[in-house]
Amino acid sequence: MNTVDYPLVNHEMVANSPYFAPLLPWQQELWQRLTMRVDRLPHGLLFAGMAGIGKHAFVWRLIAWLLCHNRGQHAEGACGCCDSCLWLASATHPDLIVLPQESQIIEIEAQDADGKGQKKNLNQSSKSMHKKVSSADNTAIGKIKVDDIRALQPFVNQGSHGRRICVIDYADTMTVAAANALLKTLEEPKAGVYLILISDRPAKLLATIKSRVQQIPITQFSASCAQTFLTEQIIKQQQIQSSKSSDRVEGGQPEAAKQIATQLLAIADGAPLKALAFFDAPWYGLRQLWLITWRALQYGKRSSIAASDYWQTQLDLTDFLQLTQVMINDLQRLKLGIAPKQQDIDFEQLTALMDKPFEKWIQLQHNIDDMKISIGQNVQEKLIYDELMQQLATI
Ligand SMILES: [Zn+2]
Repeated sequence: MNTVDYPLVNHEMVANSPYFAPLLPWQQELWQRLTMRVDRLPHGLLFAGMAGIGKHAFVWRLIAWLLCHNRGQHAEGACGCCDSCLWLASATHPDLIVLPQESQIIEIEAQDADGKGQKKNLNQSSKSMHKKVSSADNTAIGKIKVDDIRALQPFVNQGSHGRRICVIDYADTMTVAAANALLKTLEEPKAGVYLILISDRPAKLLATIKSRVQQIPITQFSASCAQTFLTEQIIKQQQIQSSKSSDRVEGGQPEAAKQIATQLLAIADGAPLKALAFFDAPWYGLRQLWLITWRALQYGKRSSIAASDYWQTQLDLTDFLQLTQVMINDLQRLKLGIAPKQQDIDFEQLTALMDKPFEKWIQLQHNIDDMKISIGQNVQEKLIYDELMQQLATI
């Protein structure tokens, strides 16, 4: 290997690249099933399912393996040292293109060596970039337009001795014109070209697109596997925290960690990486405080402006919206007489506040979705914060 060709690549870059991250435990079986029939893989693939289950981590690993020159000797993943792998590590692979291309933010959902989900950085000038997405949704992602798809044509039509891969991330954000343009490409596949679509919201994809790609069962995994993974991650983190602080001696208790994992998976709709992101999130420890604020707002003991000013010093708006969503989901459950998902939060003394019309809660959910979209549109966060507090006070 001539390292002079890769002046920017070193071992650490390969080790830190999401293309070479360990396989998530619940994806082992799928990996084997897919890679065993690599020569019969369809030309259009769709990885669809809710955020936080490791779709991206799986796709990056699969791409690296499909392009790896030493694939035959490395069934478990790309070798990490051939030309292709080094191109990937330096984000300069000529046979890979990723949409949305205009993205300038380059954090990628990935696994580190400990198997913990986190964001990794890649070369900013690379084609293989991704917009930063929150762990929960992709409302901040712009639409993929017809010109973006047309710009792919030279890449997918170009002859190649090996494989060429085109990834369309957030495929559900394609406009109808973009989706129709993509259909033409899907109808006339070139040998060796793979089109990989990733979507958190496959229901929004055109039926004609879905009928021309093979949906990979990335969402099929056992709840117990997710639970075991999350419990292990929580124990690890608690042990690290305990070792750093003499105050925290409770860390690393398997039974307690299992209970935390169960609750996190419940509020994350069973998505293990999303659950882990919740555990790490700054809002997770502020849930009881949110409830105290809400009660104070409801009883007029605190003004919405004062509450807004206070919370702006505690959490950024994205985190506060996520926290509010988790809390009102449980308040809606209480309203319906269903046990809340959060067992560690004291929902006592709220009975008197449970007489709100259900439609008001639904409306608040819609408003929060709109506010999430506003964040990506340069609306002043303070204004949204004030508006949300006002709504929480008057629901
Ligand atoms: Zn390789």
